[in-house]
Amino acid sequence: MFIGHAAVALASKPLAPRVNVALPLAAAFWLDLVWPVLLVLGIERAEIAPGDTAFTPLHFAHYPWSHSLAAALVWSALFGMACLRRYGRRAALLMGALVLSHWLLDAISHRPDLPLWPGGARLVGLGLWNSVPATLAVEGAMFAAGVWLYVRAAPARDRTGALAFWGLIALLVAAYLGNVFGPPPPGMPAVAAAGLLGSAIILALAAWADRHRGAPNK
Ligand SMILES: [Zn+2]
Repeated sequence: MFIGHAAVALASKPLAPRVNVALPLAAAFWLDLVWPVLLVLGIERAEIAPGDTAFTPLHFAHYPWSHSLAAALVWSALFGMACLRRYGRRAALLMGALVLSHWLLDAISHRPDLPLWPGGARLVGLGLWNSVPATLAVEGAMFAAGVWLYVRAAPARDRTGALAFWGLIALLVAAYLGNVFGPPPPGMPAVAAAGLLGSAIILALAAWADRHRGAPNK
């Protein structure tokens, strides 16, 4: 999933109104932020294989440290603990839950390629990505609901808040549609670089927009 992860982060705004939304976004995308780093380091492997599922040309060959259920639980606990002192217990639990939500949403969308633990032979995935229309319908509905909940919880305080936020939404949608309908990427280094650079831009834009919306950030 891609904008489905952004959707749950945006939807969490009413639960932690004073936490800048860049943090829940980082939590919801955390496993995908770790993944390109591990790809570059050669610890995890993926290939370009158009048709692996209808939705993505990526074949996730080996990614136990970013995308096994056991690893997701550990990342979730670490992320939550890192948030504890600054944001308090409630927000820390929420951020931990968002990290874990990534694995659950991936388990719905990927074909069976997600391990339960590193080295485990059993791979899971319900395969929503086998259907492009079903994926667009599910993720599109989630994203619309997430945007609506966020906008209701954090109305723009000024023009910057409105422009930066809708710029963020337009960027997410454009990146998503580019992934679906654009040509397959030229190679895995490009995928890793685009993932890291794209995430940095999205998080920076979200942090900027959020400072101009809703309650002042902690
Ligand atoms: Zn993922």
